[in-house]
Amino acid sequence: MDCIFCKILNKEIPSYKIYEDEYTYAFLDIANDVDGHTLVIPKKHCTNTLDADSETLHHVIDTVKLISNHYVNVCGYTGVNILSCNGEDSGQSVFHLHYHIFPRIKNDGKFNFPKPNMGSGKFEEIQNKLKIN
Ligand SMILES: [Zn+2]
Repeated sequence: MDCIFCKILNKEIPSYKIYEDEYTYAFLDIANDVDGHTLVIPKKHCTNTLDADSETLHHVIDTVKLISNHYVNVCGYTGVNILSCNGEDSGQSVFHLHYHIFPRIKNDGKFNFPKPNMGSGKFEEIQNKLKIN
């Protein structure tokens, strides 16, 4: 399989390891966009959150939480953004489940949540399209 993250797990490609346990691996994203931008991946290959089994998701989120707490409680950051792209049209470019952690400090201006009032505002229509129960 031609998966860059599996190659990182197999040490065919070097990475800046932050954390590793039996089920997960975390390393620095080398996009060089935000210092500390970290990727958390399961050792078991799956495409994304949508096809991952619950146990794999559980392990990945536990690691996301552990690293995020480490960044905030030990490393001097005051918050984190946690993001996962699921599917090509969402911006996913590596099709091995991963969660991004962006460590944040006050007024760093590093990561922008979508701006308000960019949607249609048709909340009832949207609710009818999206609701499950
Ligand atoms: Zn993979």
